[in-house]
Amino acid sequence: MPNPRHGKRNAEASPTLSAPSRHSRGGGARTAPRHRRAVERVAELHRKVRRQRTDHAHKAALALVRDYDQVAHERLSIANMVRAPKPKPAPEAPGSFLPNGAASRAGLNRSILEVGWGVFLGILAQKAESAARIRIPVDPRNTSRTCPECGHVDDENRDGEKFQCTACGYRDHADRVGAWNVALRAGLVLPDVA
Ligand SMILES: [Zn+2]
Repeated sequence: MPNPRHGKRNAEASPTLSAPSRHSRGGGARTAPRHRRAVERVAELHRKVRRQRTDHAHKAALALVRDYDQVAHERLSIANMVRAPKPKPAPEAPGSFLPNGAASRAGLNRSILEVGWGVFLGILAQKAESAARIRIPVDPRNTSRTCPECGHVDDENRDGEKFQCTACGYRDHADRVGAWNVALRAGLVLPDVA
């Protein structure tokens, strides 16, 4: 699903926003209505961007519950849910999905960044319930620092996108490690005990 750049498109579509103040200097009675129109237009654009973002999150969540019977994610604390979404991609985003391509096809990461985890997980909960899908929140502690191979927990295991276990040498992309740990905790995959 292509993800339109909502904010940018709307910004480009409103070149008239800066015009009223320039032309209304000394305009007397005409200033107020023009100004109000501009303010209303800005408010309308904000509403539109917000609606598009939410629409996109609805579509991504729907794609997820359509394709999967069970979805595991890190449990969000109340503090995380009420906090405003961070404007930048957070490497320690409180949640992971198995990186098998389905998530990126659904524009999942982008949607989550747009609306924030709290809003996205709320939408996902609704979709999962109405589609009779199982949603499994798991303990989010140390999912990015735990080796999915040997269980060793160490800050040093992770360096940005790279994960390398200081105990057993297991290497993988940090996002995959996070997703595997969530899946392991949810019981969706079995630990390798061989
Ligand atoms: Zn290890």
